[in-house]
Amino acid sequence: MQSFHPPRRLLLGPGPSDVPRRILDALARPTIGHLDPAYVGMMEELKTLLRYAFKTANPLTIPVSAPGSAGMEACFVNLVEPGDTVIVCRNGVFGGRMRENVVRAGASAVMVDDEFGRPVDPEKVEAALRANPGAKALAFVHAETSTGARSDAATLCRLAREHGALSIVDTVTSLGGCEVDVDGWGADAVYSGSQKCLSAPPGLSPVTFSPRATETVKARKVPVQSWFLDMSLVMAYWDGTGGRSYHHTAPINMTYALHESLLILHEEGLEAAWARHQANHERLRAGLQTMGLALLGDDDGARLPQLNPVVVPEGVDEAGVRRALLDDHGIEIGAGLGPLAGKIWRIGLMGASSRPEAVDRLLGALAQALGRSR
Ligand SMILES: *Cc1c(COP(=O)(O)O)cnc(C)c1O
Repeated sequence: MQSFHPPRRLLLGPGPSDVPRRILDALARPTIGHLDPAYVGMMEELKTLLRYAFKTANPLTIPVSAPGSAGMEACFVNLVEPGDTVIVCRNGVFGGRMRENVVRAGASAVMVDDEFGRPVDPEKVEAALRANPGAKALAFVHAETSTGARSDAATLCRLAREHGALSIVDTVTSLGGCEVDVDGWGADAVYSGSQKCLSAPPGLSPVTFSPRATETVKARKVPVQSWFLDMSLVMAYWDGTGGRSYHHTAPINMTYALHESLLILHEEGLEAAWARHQANHERLRAGLQTMGLALLGDDDGARLPQLNPVVVPEGVDEAGVRRALLDDHGIEIGAGLGPLAGKIWRIGLMGASSRPEAVDRLLGALAQALGRSR
């Protein structure tokens, strides 16, 4: 055996996205102790950069030391107690995972279902909130990576608040790629991931809790069933105002990488990053149209720029095309999930992968794999 050298790829799937050299360089810097004052200073900067990315002033804004699924779990296990009712919106695969989290926390999940590919319907959500007074939380996915649908987070968070429920919002695919406005939305518990539009490697999950969510954690009747994800313990580890206490060892070099990726986002500016994602999405959509390929869903503002679900034409070998892109062109795209398996390809234009050259390379390769002209 010898050292592992991965092949060169262009990552245009549902995540991870291409990691820029600058972030890989940050990852390769010397590991220092996680209680070293120099590291502690970096942790404080990292929290400030995360607040910028999320558009929030929430003091409790940290990266959970594990991928996006752990951020999801952290939100549910901290806010939901046995016997609670949580309204869960399901318009794709990740809404189904939210339900799993609610049920495993000993609570009951009231499902609001929408067709895969459609955004969450606020009218159905309002009806569910009316029918379930006292519901602890409303949970939904802002950017459904399984379908490319964007839901109206501002409206959904407002409905939750009006009915006295907390809002739990998945922004794993949206953060850095399209507007996320935690304080503007009035969202309570929001989580994301490092490997989608932030273009760091996978392994960290930024989360932010509103003061209302933080109070809810402090007022729990039973301890959080997960010791590792218990925010009342984790927040003391990330608290730079004094007495930082050992909880676990943060993945030190990964936090360097996330810090660098957020610095890149800050340098570009949030609005500029969102506009870049939109422009490259439009470039892709136009190119696909020329080839006679269509995106799933309608052009009604509910389509994500960073995740493009392409309808597989009749008679085309879905998996064969993905394989040809990978083998002949070094390009990774994603397959459909759940009911959309075999029916769509998922083309991610996330973070550093959202650039015109990447779009053009993919269009050329796809035309070749399909034997179509552009
Ligand atoms: C990728 C993703 C997750 C899970 O993140 P992991 O880092 O794979 O654990 C959760 N929600 C959405 C919407 C995602 O796209």
